[in-house]
Amino acid sequence: MNIGEGAFIDPYDEGGMAATLQTQQDHVRFRALAYKELRQGLASRMSVAQQRIMDFVQSIRTARPASSLGQKCGMDKPDNLAVDLHGKVLTCQNVSAAATAPNGQPHQIGHLSNLQAVKMRSATHWSHRPDCPSCPVLQLCKGSCMFLQGPLWDAGCDAAYSDNVPFLAAAIEYLTGCIPYFIEGDFRGDRKDIFGQVQGVPEQRARRVIPILADDRTVAA
Ligand code: SF4
Repeated sequence: MNIGEGAFIDPYDEGGMAATLQTQQDHVRFRALAYKELRQGLASRMSVAQQRIMDFVQSIRTARPASSLGQKCGMDKPDNLAVDLHGKVLTCQNVSAAATAPNGQPHQIGHLSNLQAVKMRSATHWSHRPDCPSCPVLQLCKGSCMFLQGPLWDAGCDAAYSDNVPFLAAAIEYLTGCIPYFIEGDFRGDRKDIFGQVQGVPEQRARRVIPILADDRTVAA
């Protein structure tokens, strides 16, 4: 059976917050498990797995610039509109015209009867988020949910990183034969140690081999 899976749900509310990963330990455990299952072929029926791995491979092969990336949902494009059956134009199809975005702006951003006046004030493009432009998984994540803010945004961003970094790791292994454990660079330090295996190891030594998965005989070079 093929499974059409999307990603971690974005935490739009308390229920979403309760369902997302809570601790750093949860995050690294999830990443290690997801990566292990990718390597063992256990996710081969989830079409998203191959799509995302090859998407990251292609982003490297073609040196795809970040500036060419739209928002994950595509709702940043002027020619994509979400409307309800009353003709009210919305931030996206996941919200109602009666709701307010976390930034205090209404999710109703106009009406079909006056398209010239439709204006998105309820969302933030990834290029205006502090962490997205330098994030290693930007090519896969594409900025997560554009209307979240505050703690909901933080939790959604954390989940999106852990959701996508196993695909990044699988793409790197596909291209090089080596498993990445640690990502150096100018981005959040708490995200560099992909599987929680090299904490406390200086960056210049972090690329040395540390077995990633206890029962996995394949090691990085
Ligand atoms: S994981 Fe977070 S910081 Fe990285 S691209 Fe996605 S939303 Fe932006």
